[in-house]
Amino acid sequence: MSMATGSKDYYKTLGVERSASPDEIKKAYRKLALKYHPDRNPGDPEAEERFKEVSEAYEVLSDPQKRRMYDAHGYEGVRGAFRHGGFTWDDFHHASEFQDIFGDLFGNLFGFGSMGGGRSRRGRPRGRDLRLRLDIDLEDVLRGKTSEITLRRLESCLKCGGSGAQPGTRPETCQRCGGHGQLRVTQGFFSLTTTCDVCGGSGQVVRNPCPECGGQGRVKEKVTLKVEVPRGVETGTQLRMLGEGEAGPPGGERGDLYIVLNVRPHKRFVREGFDLHCELPISFPQAALGDTISVETPWGAQELKIPAGTQPGDRFRLHNLGVPQRDHDDAMRGDLYVHAKLVVPTRLTDRQRELLRDYAAASGDEKLQEDRGFFDRFKQSLGLDD
Ligand SMILES: [Zn+2]
Ligand SMILES: [Zn+2]
Repeated sequence: MSMATGSKDYYKTLGVERSASPDEIKKAYRKLALKYHPDRNPGDPEAEERFKEVSEAYEVLSDPQKRRMYDAHGYEGVRGAFRHGGFTWDDFHHASEFQDIFGDLFGNLFGFGSMGGGRSRRGRPRGRDLRLRLDIDLEDVLRGKTSEITLRRLESCLKCGGSGAQPGTRPETCQRCGGHGQLRVTQGFFSLTTTCDVCGGSGQVVRNPCPECGGQGRVKEKVTLKVEVPRGVETGTQLRMLGEGEAGPPGGERGDLYIVLNVRPHKRFVREGFDLHCELPISFPQAALGDTISVETPWGAQELKIPAGTQPGDRFRLHNLGVPQRDHDDAMRGDLYVHAKLVVPTRLTDRQRELLRDYAAASGDEKLQEDRGFFDRFKQSLGLDD
């Protein structure tokens, strides 16, 4: 067990800037973990020590709450969150995330052998996942959006660093389970594992509870988060924010936050997959003679040529003017379908009325062609296509 040195620079350990993004931190850790992995450096205690150091740094900097505390108070701000007064593998929560690096390492190397501790990570109490609905507009779907959300959630108590113990004291190892958090009960041929009823699975007992959180290690706090809404999302899309759920009980992981998106209906565009549909009001002369019309699309005005003899309900496809199919790729959008809607004027001037009468007279008993468009489609939908 390595004890506190008092002046750890986690950013330096990982070789990242203090402003590094979660992604940059993860990449840096991955690289270093591979470099110092014990399997690649057999019998090299220095590499093993470095492997542990970078893992400690990653454990702190990858957890938004721990990182905040570390940024504000340095090592002292996070020390209380370690279960044994300093970082041990018991405090590392990412083995499954880096399965390809860690593999069976915990079982082989750090398990019940050399590094001590080595408790199974299964059954460890975890903070609750939270779910939140976020209303957005079609505009946000088309262009992406950074939203701010405010929520109340359980946060690690700043006063005791999340340990639940009065500052100056430390949680003690639970006597009942020996710090394992789990009890093995043998019944006949069966051996069952249950969560320890004394410590609730944390493996620790708080003798002098922190006055701020009453020994829970957590307090309700209001937090504001930025949510990056990627383009192309739809109602029901869930965005998972790792570790942004409730803080776990002492020694436990944080839960996750799920943002469930709801896209408000748009007054002009209706979405179908990645395509959009809208109506285009046209007059009888435009339909009969054809015209070039300016259409307001979500991506700016676009000239649309409608042919002579356009029927109500005819639709025109404007390529690549629909919903983005990928967050960062404008070449991959659905299409926009423009549906012609014939508008019959309700008020006519005398001159217009006269011209229409002349038009009617010139047409004689010429039989009107049926509007086959709609009816054909209707029959087709019933399987009556001829
Ligand atoms: Zn507290
Ligand atoms: Zn216990």
